[in-house]
Amino acid sequence: TALTLGNAALLRTGAYIDGRWDDAGSGTFDVHNPATGALVGSVARHGAAAASRAVEAATTAQVAWAARSAGDRAVILRRWHDLMLANADDLARLMTAEQGKPLAEARGEIAYAASFLLWFAEEARRVYGMVIPGNTPTRRLTAIRQPVGVAAAITPWNFPAAMITRKVAPALAVGCAVVLKPSELTPLSALALAALAEEAGVPAGVFNVVAGDAEAIGDVLTRDPRVRKFSFTGSTAVGKMLAARCMETVKRVSLELGGNAPFIVFDDADVEAAADGAMASKFRNTGQTCVCANRFLVQDGIYDAFAEALARRVSALRAGDGLAGVTDQGPLINQAAVEKVVRHRDDALARGARVLAEGQVAAGEGDGNFIPATLLGDVPADALLTREETFGPLAGLTRFAREADAIRMANDTPAGLAAYLYTADGARATRVGERLEYGMVGLNTGIISTEVAPFGGIKESGFGREGSVFGIDDYVSIKLLAAEIA
Ligand code: ADP
Repeated sequence: TALTLGNAALLRTGAYIDGRWDDAGSGTFDVHNPATGALVGSVARHGAAAASRAVEAATTAQVAWAARSAGDRAVILRRWHDLMLANADDLARLMTAEQGKPLAEARGEIAYAASFLLWFAEEARRVYGMVIPGNTPTRRLTAIRQPVGVAAAITPWNFPAAMITRKVAPALAVGCAVVLKPSELTPLSALALAALAEEAGVPAGVFNVVAGDAEAIGDVLTRDPRVRKFSFTGSTAVGKMLAARCMETVKRVSLELGGNAPFIVFDDADVEAAADGAMASKFRNTGQTCVCANRFLVQDGIYDAFAEALARRVSALRAGDGLAGVTDQGPLINQAAVEKVVRHRDDALARGARVLAEGQVAAGEGDGNFIPATLLGDVPADALLTREETFGPLAGLTRFAREADAIRMANDTPAGLAAYLYTADGARATRVGERLEYGMVGLNTGIISTEVAPFGGIKESGFGREGSVFGIDDYVSIKLLAAEIA
């Protein structure tokens, strides 16, 4: 590869199957730096055969892995966590090279990703069952939790490390084995994690990574009857299609799909705090997160002040190559992403919106997928920008008059992942928070993600929860032991 790291063992270009590195795919595929277009590396292109071998290896390895004590498994996960932190600088540079996010954000993601390994190492020892009072004097009823078996995971490019660990950590912690297909746009981060898993002592076959032909690999992972659990993070269209296929063999499914997050600012909100929260929610990862604010609903009385506070902050954002120096915004992942943002901006302008502020793009970034951060005002509620997930650094403000209007507008979407609201009125925060049809609601905060809290959506944003004590549930089945003692 073109990138040099302090720990060269992290640069892997093959699949990781049954504890072995397999570089013999059918050709290779290239990974490019979205900030410069430069080649970062070429990875072996694997398909259905490699995916089947990985499922086979996982099926065999899972039995012995599940038979070990939770404490044993926890020691290994904790070691994997420690290795991630010890290699954080290299992992962050690798991530910025293939994904584009500013280096400081990549470092933050490595710490966040590692936190799931530690959290689930701890949680796995508390996968308690329940003793149920019998329905007759001679009945003894016990419910126990057991690992579902082989879990398959398909993950996206926007968080190349964290989307992996928050599936793999709970799975391994409870005794499942995993076959992962990472995004072909960011496979190097996934393979680096596999290298560290190997070093940490994760047994052969317990964690496998296969990339290349997404459709062929996905076909195996959704159809093979040995796969008992399928966990997907990505676009709503692909998630629906893969989940439907999983029903042919009735797999357990978790889906974390697209959002359309409303960010509601009430008249009584602290303007500066709301603008800070808006920046964190909207522009983190250059707007490429599924919980990014996608629509700003701002009450009439605070509209001008909030617009001014946000415009000041947006104008100060600098986009640039995260590896080249200090930057607040990276490039978008590819040209299609840039085109979508442009389409949403032009559509809003054609419907009467106005540009309130634009950020800067560092000189010399002409080859990257850059677009300046942009703030629009007077965006009508029927603009594309407010109806579809933009997934880029474009923010639009829409006015509302009354609390009930804000709730109605916020809920007027098939998505239901994250929502945010700012108000100084505690009763209103709770009242509105309860009525928003979303899996997560930020009350006076723009940041809701932590390994200790449940992450996930409702409606067409999916089901299942990642992180927290609930994150275990997606990887265990409940078994009843009904004993007759007469
Ligand atoms: P995004 O917009 O985040 O790229 P996608 O849903 O396209 O969303 O990608 C998320 C993950 O789903 C990636 O790992 C991608 O390779 C995978 N993927 C996309 N299409 C398919 C498919 N037809 N079969 C299997 N995996 C797919």
